[in-house]
Parts: sequence; structure tokens; C-alpha cells
Amino acid sequence: MRFHVLTLFPDMIVNGMHTSITGRAIERGLIGLNTVDIRNYADNKHMRVDDYPYGGGAGMVMQAEPVYRAFEAVKEHISHPVRVVYLTPQGRVFNQEMAGELAGEEELVFLCGHYEGIDERVLEEIVTDPVSIGDYVLTGGELPAMVMMDAISRLVPGVLHNEESAVGESFQGYLLEYPQYSRPAVWREKAVPEVLLSGHHANVERWRREQSVLRTAKWRPDLLENAELTPKEREMLN
Ligand code: SAM
Repeated sequence: MRFHVLTLFPDMIVNGMHTSITGRAIERGLIGLNTVDIRNYADNKHMRVDDYPYGGGAGMVMQAEPVYRAFEAVKEHISHPVRVVYLTPQGRVFNQEMAGELAGEEELVFLCGHYEGIDERVLEEIVTDPVSIGDYVLTGGELPAMVMMDAISRLVPGVLHNEESAVGESFQGYLLEYPQYSRPAVWREKAVPEVLLSGHHANVERWRREQSVLRTAKWRPDLLENAELTPKEREMLN
């Protein structure tokens, strides 16, 4: 998987992505990161890439031409059609299913807006997937792009070690993950659930499944609509 990020703040992306698990994956060549500074494609000596919005109103708008040229420069190195994700609060809301779908791509382009956004004409020209990370407005698309790249990277084979496996995590099968515990067995008079110390694999699995269903019902009941529950589990919830 190779990520190309069109941004006005490449340092933010590089610093964020070269940390922890994603940093390790980049070093090991499991994921590639190419940041493109849109400002380098400005067509004026002041390197300005934004201007006032037609029709008036607050803020500035990123101009079409530098964004288009930055994209063309990236596309030169990609031989096949590529999905271009525009980070925008107006897009389809990102979720684990979308992360899985995008993890199957060989290359992905992320376009980060700033200020009031980007001239609509270039978006019409190059964007295939407008995506939001939630119903709130941020100052720029850099954090959303990193959120997406992090979630996608975890699903690229080899990025997670066995102990960090993505199997059975929250949102698989529309359920949240069960609660986790580590040493010590008693912490400030709070003991770890006994079944986890029993060494009885089947009982542990049963307990985890039950906790997963209960936790989803308590914290994210909206997910249960799509979850596959046994009649016994439905009864337990009632
Ligand atoms: N004027 C735009 C609107 O009302 O839809 C918001 C622009 S926002 C201040 C600036 C940039 O931040 C956007 O172009 C987008 O790239 C990014 N952004 C802000 N919130 C986001 C979100 N929830 N998801 C994805 N990107 C977001």
C-alpha cells in the first residue's frame, strides 16, 4: 500500500505517520508514504495558493490550479486509475468497513483541504471519494487523512504483530470488543474476572462473546441492528 498525501502541511503528516506502528511499517516497506506540498505548485512568486471566495463570505478558498498540478505530479508515477479521497466534513462518514475496502487498494491519494475548503471545480475533476471522519468541523484535512491512513495501515498484512492482531476487534460483526485486563490480577481491590484466570479456553471465549454483546448494547446499541445474535443472546438483552 502506498499513500500519497496532497497537503499544505506535509510535516504534520510525516511526523504523525513516522511514529509507532505506522512508522515501523514505513521503515519495513509495508506501507509507502509520499507527501506532496501543494504550495510547491503555486503559480505566483509569493507561493500563494488561496484566494477570496467568489460571492463573498468569510475565509479563504484553496485555488484549483495548484491542487490540480500537485495531483498531476502524483499521477505521473501511478500507471492505473487511482482512488482520490477528499477529506471533507460533507463526505460519507469513515468506518471500519470502508477501512477494509480501501486497504485492498495498491495506492491511495488523499487530498487535504484547509481554510474554507477547495475550489469545487478541481474537486469535480479529480475526487472519487469524499470522506468525513465525523460530524464536526476541523481546521484541515491532515488529521482526518492520518486517521484514515492509520486505520487502513492496521489492515495491511504484516503491519500488526500477532499480539496486536486486528481479528476480533471492535466493529467486526457490528459488535464492540470485550473488556481487556492485564497484570496485576488484583488492582486496588479490583480483581480480574475469574474466568480469565481459569485457563479454560472455551469458557473464556463464551465470557468474551457475552461481554461483547452486553457492552455493545450499553455503549453502541445502534450497532446491534446489524449484528448477528443468537436467540439466546437476544433473550439475554431483553
Ligand atoms: N467550509 C467547509 C464546510 O463547511 O464544509 C469546512 C472547511 S474545514 C474548516 C477545512 C478543511 O478541513 C476541509 O476542506 C477538510 O479537508 C478538513 N475537514 C474539516 N473537518 C473535517 C471532517 N470532519 N472530516 C474530514 N475532513 C475535515
